[in-house]
Amino acid sequence: MRYHNITKDDMLNGDGLRVVLWVAGCSHCCRECHNPITWDPDGGLLFDQAAKQEIFEQLDKSYISGITFSGGDPLHPANRLDVREFMAEIKEKYPHKTIWLYTGDSWENIMQYPLMKYVDVLVDGEFHADEKDVKLLWKGSANQRVINVQETLRQPDPVSPILHCGNYADSYKVTEKPASVGCCG
Ligand code: SF4
Repeated sequence: MRYHNITKDDMLNGDGLRVVLWVAGCSHCCRECHNPITWDPDGGLLFDQAAKQEIFEQLDKSYISGITFSGGDPLHPANRLDVREFMAEIKEKYPHKTIWLYTGDSWENIMQYPLMKYVDVLVDGEFHADEKDVKLLWKGSANQRVINVQETLRQPDPVSPILHCGNYADSYKVTEKPASVGCCG
């Protein structure tokens, strides 16, 4: 896997203060994508032990709520296995930290992926420029969904996602959270 950046104390890509891994590789080609530089899976830097350590140092901090995987698309075929293995390692080392995942894929197509057992919140769907709304919470366009993965998977029929929050901050269960400018928006 390759990556472009690791951002720290991030408030725009999930609950609380987070470390964000921006991976390389995306084949969705959304119109008006904010990060087209991340589309090439051969771009950026090799995700090596030093990069992992940089993330662990952030997760060691008590005030860091967890990690967000963004990009690019962490579920691009070039990334999926490495992301799954890294998520497993994180959940074992930091069972109380949350994992958020941004992808251009739709929940219905990816809900069976083994890595979903590690994901707390998934922001799914391609960015639709004609549905863009900068006031949306944690997402860039109205078609995307912020999904509570574990609650959804516990349902008898997980195909209908249970949402983690409403579309806007004023309907959010923790009202002080800011709006997102995440990967897919
Ligand atoms: S908006 Fe997200 S899913 Fe769409 S092309 Fe850009 S990085 Fe890929």
